[in-house]
Amino acid sequence: MKLQPDARFATVCIHAGQEPDPGTGAIITPIFQTATYVQEELGRHKGYEYARTQNPTRTALEANLAAIEGGKAAFAFASGMAAIGAIASLLRAGDHMVVTDNTYGGTFRLFDKVLTRYSLDFSYVDTSREDLIESTITPRTRMLFIETPTNPILRLTDIARAAEIAHSHGLRLVVDNTFASPYIQRPLDLGADLVMHSTTKYLNGHSDSVGGIVIAARDEDIEWLRFVQNAAGAILGPFDCWLVLRGTKTLPIRMAQHNINGLALAQFLAAHSKVRRVIYPGLPDHPQHELARTQMRGFGGMLSFDVGSFEAARTVLNRVRLHALAESLGGVETLISHPATMTHSSVPPEDRAKLGITDSLIRISVGIEDVEDLKADLAQALEAID
Ligand SMILES: *Cc1c(COP(=O)(O)O)cnc(C)c1O
Repeated sequence: MKLQPDARFATVCIHAGQEPDPGTGAIITPIFQTATYVQEELGRHKGYEYARTQNPTRTALEANLAAIEGGKAAFAFASGMAAIGAIASLLRAGDHMVVTDNTYGGTFRLFDKVLTRYSLDFSYVDTSREDLIESTITPRTRMLFIETPTNPILRLTDIARAAEIAHSHGLRLVVDNTFASPYIQRPLDLGADLVMHSTTKYLNGHSDSVGGIVIAARDEDIEWLRFVQNAAGAILGPFDCWLVLRGTKTLPIRMAQHNINGLALAQFLAAHSKVRRVIYPGLPDHPQHELARTQMRGFGGMLSFDVGSFEAARTVLNRVRLHALAESLGGVETLISHPATMTHSSVPPEDRAKLGITDSLIRISVGIEDVEDLKADLAQALEAID
Protein backbone atom coordinates (compact mmCIF):
# COMPACT_ATOMS: atom_id res chain seq x y z
CA MET A 1 0.00 0.00 0.00
CA LYS A 2 2.47 2.59 -1.17
CA LEU A 3 1.12 5.97 -2.28
CA GLN A 4 2.58 6.80 -5.70
CA PRO A 5 4.02 10.32 -6.15
CA ASP A 6 1.52 11.04 -8.94
CA ALA A 7 -1.51 9.87 -6.90
CA ARG A 8 -4.59 12.00 -7.52
CA PHE A 9 -6.50 14.11 -4.99
CA ALA A 10 -9.07 11.58 -3.72
CA THR A 11 -6.40 8.89 -3.39
CA VAL A 12 -4.15 11.28 -1.45
CA CYS A 13 -7.04 12.16 0.89
CA ILE A 14 -7.60 8.49 1.79
CA HIS A 15 -4.03 7.25 1.99
CA ALA A 16 -1.48 10.03 2.59
CA GLY A 17 0.30 9.83 5.95
CA GLN A 18 -1.10 6.43 6.81
CA GLU A 19 0.44 2.96 6.74
CA PRO A 20 -1.08 -0.20 8.22
CA ASP A 21 -0.04 -0.47 11.88
CA PRO A 22 3.24 -2.44 11.84
CA GLY A 23 2.34 -4.37 15.01
CA THR A 24 -1.10 -5.61 13.99
CA GLY A 25 -1.81 -4.70 10.37
CA ALA A 26 -4.69 -2.43 11.51
CA ILE A 27 -5.55 -0.43 8.39
CA ILE A 28 -6.57 2.61 10.42
CA THR A 29 -3.95 4.55 12.38
CA PRO A 30 -4.82 3.91 16.07
CA ILE A 31 -5.67 6.61 18.59
CA PHE A 32 -2.40 6.73 20.52
CA GLN A 33 -3.93 7.85 23.80
CA THR A 34 -0.68 8.05 25.71
CA ALA A 35 1.23 10.79 27.50
CA THR A 36 4.70 9.27 27.24
CA TYR A 37 6.76 6.54 25.54
CA VAL A 38 9.03 3.99 27.18
CA GLN A 39 12.66 4.25 26.08
CA GLU A 40 14.64 1.10 25.32
CA GLU A 41 17.74 2.28 27.11
CA LEU A 42 19.22 5.62 28.06
CA GLY A 43 19.33 7.77 24.95
CA ARG A 44 17.59 5.15 22.74
CA HIS A 45 13.95 5.57 21.72
CA LYS A 46 11.71 5.20 18.67
CA GLY A 47 11.49 8.94 17.92
CA TYR A 48 8.70 9.47 20.45
CA GLU A 49 9.52 10.86 23.90
CA TYR A 50 6.61 12.91 25.23
CA ALA A 51 3.15 13.36 23.70
CA ARG A 52 3.06 17.15 23.55
CA THR A 53 6.10 16.93 21.29
CA GLN A 54 5.17 13.87 19.20
CA ASN A 55 2.11 11.64 18.86
CA PRO A 56 1.76 9.07 16.04
CA THR A 57 -1.93 9.84 15.42
CA ARG A 58 -1.06 13.51 15.07
CA THR A 59 1.94 12.71 12.87
CA ALA A 60 -0.38 10.79 10.52
CA LEU A 61 -2.89 13.65 10.36
CA GLU A 62 -0.17 16.24 9.77
CA ALA A 63 1.35 14.20 6.91
CA ASN A 64 -2.13 13.63 5.48
CA LEU A 65 -3.03 17.34 5.45
CA ALA A 66 0.40 18.44 4.20
CA ALA A 67 -0.15 16.17 1.18
CA ILE A 68 -3.77 17.28 0.68
CA GLU A 69 -2.76 20.98 0.58
CA GLY A 70 0.42 20.30 -1.40
CA GLY A 71 2.71 21.61 1.38
CA LYS A 72 5.96 20.33 2.88
CA ALA A 73 4.76 19.95 6.46
CA ALA A 74 1.68 20.56 8.61
CA PHE A 75 1.10 21.24 12.28
CA ALA A 76 -2.13 20.40 14.13
CA PHE A 77 -3.43 22.69 16.85
CA ALA A 78 -6.19 22.59 19.46
CA SER A 79 -8.39 24.93 17.39
CA GLY A 80 -8.34 27.09 14.30
CA MET A 81 -7.61 30.06 16.56
CA ALA A 82 -4.60 28.29 18.10
CA ALA A 83 -3.35 27.68 14.54
CA ILE A 84 -3.69 31.39 13.72
CA GLY A 85 -1.93 32.26 16.98
CA ALA A 86 0.99 30.05 15.95
CA ILE A 87 1.17 31.78 12.55
CA ALA A 88 1.14 35.20 14.23
CA SER A 89 4.08 34.11 16.38
CA LEU A 90 6.22 34.33 13.22
CA LEU A 91 6.01 38.11 13.75
CA ARG A 92 8.07 40.22 16.14
CA ALA A 93 7.15 43.34 18.11
CA GLY A 94 6.84 46.30 15.76
CA ASP A 95 5.73 44.22 12.77
CA HIS A 96 2.61 45.02 10.76
CA MET A 97 0.10 42.69 9.11
CA VAL A 98 -2.44 43.43 6.34
CA VAL A 99 -5.65 41.46 6.88
CA THR A 100 -8.85 40.94 4.86
CA ASP A 101 -11.38 43.35 6.39
CA ASN A 102 -14.26 40.86 6.42
CA THR A 103 -12.13 38.29 8.27
CA TYR A 104 -13.45 35.65 10.67
CA GLY A 105 -14.60 37.37 13.89
CA GLY A 106 -12.35 35.29 16.13
CA THR A 107 -9.34 36.22 14.02
CA PHE A 108 -10.17 39.92 14.38
CA ARG A 109 -10.62 39.47 18.14
CA LEU A 110 -7.25 37.72 18.55
CA PHE A 111 -5.43 40.36 16.50
CA ASP A 112 -7.27 43.41 17.82
CA LYS A 113 -7.71 42.55 21.51
CA VAL A 114 -4.73 40.32 22.26
CA LEU A 115 -1.85 40.73 19.82
CA THR A 116 -1.97 44.54 19.67
CA ARG A 117 -0.85 44.35 23.34
CA TYR A 118 2.44 42.91 22.06
CA SER A 119 3.23 45.85 19.75
CA LEU A 120 1.90 44.18 16.60
CA ASP A 121 -0.12 46.31 14.21
CA PHE A 122 -2.93 45.26 11.91
CA SER A 123 -4.67 46.97 8.99
CA TYR A 124 -7.97 45.60 7.70
CA VAL A 125 -8.69 46.20 4.03
CA ASP A 126 -10.81 44.87 1.22
CA THR A 127 -8.20 42.48 -0.20
CA SER A 128 -10.34 41.87 -3.29
CA ARG A 129 -8.86 45.24 -4.36
CA GLU A 130 -5.20 44.99 -5.31
CA ASP A 131 -4.73 48.76 -5.09
CA LEU A 132 -5.84 48.70 -1.44
CA ILE A 133 -3.44 45.87 -0.58
CA GLU A 134 -0.60 47.81 -2.21
CA SER A 135 -1.41 51.13 -0.53
CA THR A 136 -1.73 49.53 2.94
CA ILE A 137 1.70 47.88 2.90
CA THR A 138 4.30 49.81 4.92
CA PRO A 139 8.04 49.21 5.45
CA ARG A 140 7.05 47.37 8.66
CA THR A 141 4.58 45.00 6.98
CA ARG A 142 5.67 41.36 7.21
CA MET A 143 2.53 39.39 6.42
CA LEU A 144 -0.58 39.48 4.23
CA PHE A 145 -3.39 37.41 5.78
CA ILE A 146 -6.36 36.73 3.52
CA GLU A 147 -9.59 34.80 3.65
CA THR A 148 -11.37 33.83 0.44
CA PRO A 149 -14.30 33.50 0.21
CA THR A 150 -15.12 35.62 3.25
CA ASN A 151 -17.78 35.06 5.85
CA PRO A 152 -20.69 35.80 5.34
CA ILE A 153 -20.34 38.16 2.35
CA LEU A 154 -18.42 35.61 0.24
CA ARG A 155 -16.07 38.11 -1.30
CA LEU A 156 -13.08 36.62 -3.10
CA THR A 157 -9.43 37.60 -3.21
CA ASP A 158 -7.30 36.60 -6.19
CA ILE A 159 -4.79 34.36 -4.43
CA ALA A 160 -2.20 34.30 -7.23
CA ARG A 161 -2.22 38.11 -7.49
CA ALA A 162 -2.08 38.48 -3.69
CA ALA A 163 0.99 36.19 -3.68
CA GLU A 164 2.69 38.31 -6.34
CA ILE A 165 2.03 41.52 -4.42
CA ALA A 166 3.15 39.97 -1.12
CA HIS A 167 6.36 38.59 -2.57
CA SER A 168 7.23 41.81 -4.40
CA HIS A 169 7.29 43.46 -0.94
CA GLY A 170 9.05 40.57 0.82
CA LEU A 171 5.93 39.51 2.78
CA ARG A 172 4.52 36.08 3.51
CA LEU A 173 1.07 35.34 2.14
CA VAL A 174 -1.15 33.42 4.58
CA VAL A 175 -4.50 32.04 3.39
CA ASP A 176 -7.26 30.96 5.76
CA ASN A 177 -8.69 28.24 3.49
CA THR A 178 -11.40 27.10 5.91
CA PHE A 179 -14.39 28.25 3.82
CA ALA A 180 -13.26 26.63 0.59
CA SER A 181 -11.38 23.48 1.68
CA PRO A 182 -8.44 22.12 -0.36
CA TYR A 183 -10.85 20.30 -2.67
CA ILE A 184 -12.03 23.68 -3.98
CA GLN A 185 -8.75 25.60 -3.88
CA ARG A 186 -5.11 24.89 -3.00
CA PRO A 187 -3.48 28.25 -2.17
CA LEU A 188 0.09 26.89 -1.98
CA ASP A 189 -0.17 25.96 -5.68
CA LEU A 190 -1.10 29.61 -6.34
CA GLY A 191 1.93 30.99 -4.50
CA ALA A 192 0.80 31.26 -0.85
CA ASP A 193 3.44 30.57 1.80
CA LEU A 194 1.17 29.32 4.59
CA VAL A 195 -2.34 27.88 4.63
CA MET A 196 -4.46 27.36 7.71
CA HIS A 197 -7.79 25.73 8.44
CA SER A 198 -10.19 25.42 11.24
CA THR A 199 -10.43 21.60 10.87
CA THR A 200 -13.66 22.02 12.86
CA LYS A 201 -15.33 22.83 9.54
CA TYR A 202 -15.02 20.97 6.20
CA LEU A 203 -11.87 18.94 6.90
CA ASN A 204 -13.44 17.07 9.80
CA GLY A 205 -16.86 17.68 8.29
CA HIS A 206 -19.03 16.02 10.90
CA SER A 207 -19.47 18.75 13.54
CA ASP A 208 -17.89 16.61 16.25
CA SER A 209 -14.39 18.03 16.76
CA VAL A 210 -12.66 21.39 17.20
CA GLY A 211 -9.18 21.74 15.75
CA GLY A 212 -6.79 23.69 13.54
CA ILE A 213 -3.99 23.03 11.07
CA VAL A 214 -1.19 25.10 9.54
CA ILE A 215 0.37 23.86 6.30
CA ALA A 216 3.72 25.37 5.37
CA ALA A 217 5.91 25.43 2.29
CA ARG A 218 9.11 27.18 3.48
CA ASP A 219 11.78 25.48 5.60
CA GLU A 220 12.27 28.44 7.96
CA ASP A 221 8.52 28.59 8.72
CA ILE A 222 8.41 24.82 9.23
CA GLU A 223 11.25 24.97 11.72
CA TRP A 224 9.60 27.77 13.72
CA LEU A 225 6.12 26.20 13.67
CA ARG A 226 7.47 22.87 14.88
CA PHE A 227 9.29 24.69 17.67
CA VAL A 228 6.32 26.84 18.70
CA GLN A 229 3.81 23.95 18.53
CA ASN A 230 5.87 22.21 21.21
CA ALA A 231 6.91 25.36 23.09
CA ALA A 232 3.43 26.88 23.41
CA GLY A 233 1.80 23.45 23.51
CA ALA A 234 -1.62 24.10 21.93
CA ILE A 235 -1.61 20.66 20.27
CA LEU A 236 -4.54 18.71 18.88
CA GLY A 237 -5.30 15.64 21.01
CA PRO A 238 -5.07 12.14 19.51
CA PHE A 239 -8.83 11.46 19.42
CA ASP A 240 -9.48 14.67 17.50
CA CYS A 241 -6.58 13.88 15.14
CA TRP A 242 -8.19 10.50 14.47
CA LEU A 243 -11.59 12.09 13.81
CA VAL A 244 -10.12 14.56 11.29
CA LEU A 245 -8.17 11.73 9.61
CA ARG A 246 -11.47 9.92 9.20
CA GLY A 247 -13.03 13.11 7.87
CA THR A 248 -10.48 13.76 5.15
CA LYS A 249 -11.08 10.31 3.61
CA THR A 250 -14.50 11.49 2.42
CA LEU A 251 -13.55 15.14 1.78
CA PRO A 252 -13.76 14.87 -2.05
CA ILE A 253 -17.20 13.27 -2.16
CA ARG A 254 -18.55 15.52 0.57
CA MET A 255 -17.24 18.66 -1.15
CA ALA A 256 -18.60 17.55 -4.53
CA GLN A 257 -22.05 17.25 -2.94
CA HIS A 258 -21.68 20.55 -1.00
CA ASN A 259 -20.95 22.17 -4.39
CA ILE A 260 -24.03 20.61 -6.01
CA ASN A 261 -26.36 21.41 -3.11
CA GLY A 262 -24.94 24.92 -2.63
CA LEU A 263 -25.57 25.88 -6.24
CA ALA A 264 -29.03 24.28 -6.30
CA LEU A 265 -30.12 26.06 -3.12
CA ALA A 266 -28.66 29.39 -4.29
CA GLN A 267 -30.61 29.12 -7.56
CA PHE A 268 -33.78 28.17 -5.68
CA LEU A 269 -33.47 31.19 -3.37
CA ALA A 270 -32.57 33.57 -6.22
CA ALA A 271 -35.84 32.64 -7.94
CA HIS A 272 -37.98 33.03 -4.77
CA SER A 273 -40.23 36.08 -4.54
CA LYS A 274 -39.58 36.64 -0.79
CA VAL A 275 -35.80 36.79 -1.28
CA ARG A 276 -34.23 40.15 -2.17
CA ARG A 277 -30.72 39.02 -2.93
CA VAL A 278 -28.58 35.88 -2.82
CA ILE A 279 -24.81 36.00 -2.39
CA TYR A 280 -23.11 32.89 -3.83
CA PRO A 281 -19.95 32.82 -5.96
CA GLY A 282 -21.61 30.37 -8.34
CA LEU A 283 -24.36 32.79 -9.40
CA PRO A 284 -23.56 34.88 -12.50
CA ASP A 285 -24.52 38.09 -10.63
CA HIS A 286 -21.80 37.57 -8.00
CA PRO A 287 -19.32 40.43 -8.62
CA GLN A 288 -16.43 37.96 -8.76
CA HIS A 289 -18.13 35.07 -10.53
CA GLU A 290 -15.41 34.97 -13.19
CA LEU A 291 -12.62 34.76 -10.59
CA ALA A 292 -14.59 32.07 -8.76
CA ARG A 293 -14.80 30.03 -11.97
CA THR A 294 -11.03 30.03 -12.42
CA GLN A 295 -9.79 30.02 -8.83
CA MET A 296 -12.25 27.54 -7.32
CA ARG A 297 -13.30 24.00 -8.22
CA GLY A 298 -17.02 24.43 -7.66
CA PHE A 299 -18.42 27.25 -5.56
CA GLY A 300 -18.74 25.62 -2.15
CA GLY A 301 -21.48 25.11 0.38
CA MET A 302 -21.73 28.59 1.90
CA LEU A 303 -24.35 31.11 0.83
CA SER A 304 -26.05 34.18 2.24
CA PHE A 305 -29.36 35.79 1.36
CA ASP A 306 -31.32 38.87 2.27
CA VAL A 307 -35.01 38.77 3.12
CA GLY A 308 -35.54 42.53 3.43
CA SER A 309 -36.01 43.03 7.17
CA PHE A 310 -34.96 41.73 10.56
CA GLU A 311 -38.54 40.58 11.20
CA ALA A 312 -38.55 38.53 7.99
CA ALA A 313 -35.17 37.02 8.91
CA ARG A 314 -36.46 36.12 12.37
CA THR A 315 -39.50 34.44 10.82
CA VAL A 316 -37.37 32.28 8.52
CA LEU A 317 -34.87 31.36 11.25
CA ASN A 318 -37.62 30.37 13.69
CA ARG A 319 -39.72 28.48 11.12
CA VAL A 320 -37.12 26.19 9.55
CA ARG A 321 -37.26 22.62 10.79
CA LEU A 322 -34.56 20.72 8.90
CA HIS A 323 -32.09 23.63 8.88
CA ALA A 324 -30.47 23.76 12.33
CA LEU A 325 -30.14 27.24 13.83
CA ALA A 326 -26.48 27.21 14.86
CA GLU A 327 -23.10 28.84 14.43
CA SER A 328 -20.27 26.93 12.71
CA LEU A 329 -20.24 25.47 9.21
CA GLY A 330 -18.81 22.77 7.00
CA GLY A 331 -20.64 19.77 8.44
CA VAL A 332 -22.74 17.21 6.59
CA GLU A 333 -25.87 18.70 8.19
CA THR A 334 -27.25 22.05 7.04
CA LEU A 335 -26.86 24.95 9.48
CA ILE A 336 -28.58 28.31 9.26
CA SER A 337 -27.56 31.44 11.14
CA HIS A 338 -28.07 35.16 11.58
CA PRO A 339 -24.62 36.79 11.24
CA ALA A 340 -25.58 40.19 12.69
CA THR A 341 -26.65 38.77 16.07
CA MET A 342 -24.70 35.51 16.11
CA THR A 343 -21.24 35.14 14.49
CA HIS A 344 -20.69 38.86 13.86
CA SER A 345 -22.35 40.44 16.91
CA SER A 346 -18.91 41.55 18.18
CA VAL A 347 -18.26 43.52 14.97
CA PRO A 348 -19.24 47.18 15.62
CA PRO A 349 -22.57 48.05 13.87
CA GLU A 350 -20.93 50.67 11.63
CA ASP A 351 -18.35 48.11 10.44
CA ARG A 352 -21.10 45.55 9.87
CA ALA A 353 -22.93 48.09 7.74
CA LYS A 354 -19.78 48.84 5.75
CA LEU A 355 -19.25 45.13 5.08
CA GLY A 356 -22.89 44.58 4.09
CA ILE A 357 -23.79 42.40 7.09
CA THR A 358 -27.35 43.72 7.44
CA ASP A 359 -29.92 42.63 10.04
CA SER A 360 -31.90 41.02 7.23
CA LEU A 361 -29.04 38.76 6.10
CA ILE A 362 -29.22 34.99 6.67
CA ARG A 363 -26.30 32.60 6.18
CA ILE A 364 -26.56 28.92 5.30
CA SER A 365 -23.89 26.24 5.48
CA VAL A 366 -25.49 23.88 2.99
CA GLY A 367 -25.07 20.25 4.05
CA ILE A 368 -25.31 17.10 1.99
CA GLU A 369 -28.90 16.11 2.72
CA ASP A 370 -31.22 15.62 -0.27
CA VAL A 371 -31.45 19.18 -1.56
CA GLU A 372 -35.19 18.79 -2.33
CA ASP A 373 -35.82 18.48 1.41
CA LEU A 374 -33.77 21.62 2.04
CA LYS A 375 -35.74 23.55 -0.59
CA ALA A 376 -39.06 22.37 0.86
CA ASP A 377 -38.00 23.43 4.34
CA LEU A 378 -36.95 26.90 3.18
CA ALA A 379 -40.10 27.24 1.06
CA GLN A 380 -42.41 26.68 4.03
CA ALA A 381 -40.37 29.08 6.20
CA LEU A 382 -40.28 31.82 3.51
CA GLU A 383 -44.06 31.44 3.00
CA ALA A 384 -44.56 32.64 6.58
CA ILE A 385 -43.08 36.07 5.79
CA ASP A 386 -45.93 38.54 5.30
C1 LIG B 1 -14.15 28.69 12.55
C2 LIG B 1 -13.15 29.49 11.84
C3 LIG B 1 -11.93 29.85 12.44
C4 LIG B 1 -11.59 29.51 13.87
O1 LIG B 1 -11.52 28.13 14.07
P1 LIG B 1 -11.89 27.42 15.47
O2 LIG B 1 -11.64 25.98 15.18
O3 LIG B 1 -13.31 27.75 15.80
O4 LIG B 1 -10.94 27.97 16.49
C5 LIG B 1 -11.02 30.58 11.68
N1 LIG B 1 -11.30 30.96 10.42
C6 LIG B 1 -12.47 30.65 9.83
C7 LIG B 1 -12.72 31.10 8.43
C8 LIG B 1 -13.43 29.91 10.51
O5 LIG B 1 -14.59 29.63 9.92
